[in-house]
Amino acid sequence: MRTIRSLTTVAPGILFAEGPASNWTVFHGRGHVELVDCGYPADRPLVEESIRATELDVEALKRIIVTHGHSDHLGAARAYSEGSGVEVLAAASELPNVRREVTEQVTVADLMPVALRRGTIPWAVAAIRAGGLGDVGVPSAQAITADVIALSTGHRLEVLPTPGHTSGHACFFEPDADVLITGDALVTGHALLNDAGELQQLPTFFHHDADGAEASARRLSLCDARWVLPGHGPALRL
Ligand SMILES: [Zn+2]
Repeated sequence: MRTIRSLTTVAPGILFAEGPASNWTVFHGRGHVELVDCGYPADRPLVEESIRATELDVEALKRIIVTHGHSDHLGAARAYSEGSGVEVLAAASELPNVRREVTEQVTVADLMPVALRRGTIPWAVAAIRAGGLGDVGVPSAQAITADVIALSTGHRLEVLPTPGHTSGHACFFEPDADVLITGDALVTGHALLNDAGELQQLPTFFHHDADGAEASARRLSLCDARWVLPGHGPALRL
């Protein structure tokens, strides 16, 4: 059964959800909810559970901002967009991937060299079961047009372009609470990584451009944050 691993309030109105295999952040306030990422498609009930944990209802969800267009971050964004008119935003350079005009995502062929490594096959099976190969593209997704996104919840997010993992991957920094959302540019754990809890990069084969990912990770490590909320692994308090 899929369950949320942990829910952490990192600052007023900022709830971090560590999902079964990938994470999302719930911003809430002024009767509104906005998400950064939303897990796998199969995590939809858990996303809604995390919204209800803020004492708001799912109808309060106004917008989903994604770090990048992978299926374990896009989740049910398409269903929310088509069913309830929830706006979906991504960096302009990530839109082709989010809309599935191109696909920058690890394939079965990419996994062949590491298929025998411990954990690879169980991870791949779980990813497929969670909807990882499903049709998750969001044709209606729109581009982020500002350097700072003003959320309807009263928070603001500085947009940090961090290409490499995908062409238009973006991280987000909430300056009032010093919260850095790193998506897959830096993580603190993954089924295919050994050291849980440490800030680190995903294995190279997950990145569209490994050199770019390395450079982005190095730039991010200069960011002065109190909390790091990664795409995979637990929240890290610095
Ligand atoms: Zn990813």
